[in-house]
Amino acid sequence: MDDVKTIFSKREANEITFTHLMEETLKELSHDDELHAFLFIRNADELMADAKAADNAWDEGQRKPLLGIPIAIKDNMCVTGLPCTCGSKILEHFVAPYDATAVKKLKDAGAIIVGKTNLDEFAMGSSSENSAFGPTRNPLDKTCSPGGSSGGSAAAVASGMSLLALGSDTGGSVRQPAAFTGTFGFKPSYGAISRYGLVAFASSLDQIGVLAKHPEDVILASSVLFGQDPMDSTSRDIPMAPQPEASNVKRVGIVKEIDSNMLDKDVKHAYDSFINYLSRTYEVVEISIPHWEEALAAYYFIAPAEASSNLSRYDGVRYGTTMEAENYSESIRKTRNLFGEEVKRRILLGSFALSAGYKDALYEKANYLRQWLVFEFDQVFQNVDMVLTPTTPTPPFKLGEIKDPLDLYKADLFTTPANLAYLPAINMPYPFQENKKDLPIGLQFIAPFGEDHKLLSFINELWQGAEEL
Ligand code: GLN
Repeated sequence: MDDVKTIFSKREANEITFTHLMEETLKELSHDDELHAFLFIRNADELMADAKAADNAWDEGQRKPLLGIPIAIKDNMCVTGLPCTCGSKILEHFVAPYDATAVKKLKDAGAIIVGKTNLDEFAMGSSSENSAFGPTRNPLDKTCSPGGSSGGSAAAVASGMSLLALGSDTGGSVRQPAAFTGTFGFKPSYGAISRYGLVAFASSLDQIGVLAKHPEDVILASSVLFGQDPMDSTSRDIPMAPQPEASNVKRVGIVKEIDSNMLDKDVKHAYDSFINYLSRTYEVVEISIPHWEEALAAYYFIAPAEASSNLSRYDGVRYGTTMEAENYSESIRKTRNLFGEEVKRRILLGSFALSAGYKDALYEKANYLRQWLVFEFDQVFQNVDMVLTPTTPTPPFKLGEIKDPLDLYKADLFTTPANLAYLPAINMPYPFQENKKDLPIGLQFIAPFGEDHKLLSFINELWQGAEEL
């Protein structure tokens, strides 16, 4: 599928129309029962009417950055009048009364929202199997997981059901499904994109991110989405131009603490050969993030702690489903029992980590570790421009393959540090897969805080360079 720039130049030359683009998109969307990437797809007549309106606007001379472009939204972000279930029974009947800031910006830029994508319940998971409404399948191999928790968004982009998608990334949920579906998945610096209207999981880690097949589309969408928002006091202005520019990256760091026994053999092969390729053009140096491995443990206290507080609002009174019962407390108990296993596990773990007797040993210690990590990245970025790691320890695994929740947590070993340290990071598909039928492998680049545009420009350079080989 073409990138947005190519679509616009074809539209200019009257080779295609947005109506035509939407017809193609609807064809793909009609096969979604095989993938279950979406929990809600907008009505075809409405979508065609939106595409027609975009064509008319174009013919009248309007040139908005995403005019007529189909985009999918993870079902934990509010879109006025559409369901927002978070993949949970507890929000099954909740309809969003307003637009998330990110959604509003996309609409203002002319994008057409096609629907809401499937996710692990409340974005907790790495396989998209924790959705209360059933799993999503990987379009590249339907027996495999598309990754998670933004697996629906990744599957939508990979299968051509939308050109772009929004996901949310608390500990890797945009990058990891991008790695499993051979797409680009970008998590910006903390605060770069407003979280207003994104259902909170762990507020100090959550970021909205972009999934696309082309790095230039990630840049374009990010330029629309970035910016301080009065509705989110943690948001801030981080520069993002609509086009890439020369990145001037010279030195890339390889994390010493990532050792080969953490990696599946195919991932190791891809990682090693990519390092080799990189070192022809860039200076590749070994760096040390001593607390890399502990980051995962810190994440699995901080994220559940914040989740246990954020999820206390689902009492059956304010949002979504209310279970009737004889009295108020029984009604709350029954309603909260609608949470799935994994969400309950996180609430228990988080409440425990915050409890009077254990707070110092668990939650405070995890935050202390987090500060160390911030400091260690700071030191490293004195010396290198970017850090390279694999995105995940393994290629896509089979649906149902990972049974122990702790084993699934290990899938986040390489993605959680960027969230804990507030840094921008992206998944880029390994470009030199010898056997094109093999499942994709993801490479992750992490950049200093606020250098999101440099990171994306660099990825674009790398991708174009690799394609020319
Ligand atoms: N897999 C991680 C978790 O389950 C990250 C999820 C996310 O980024 N939303 O917590």
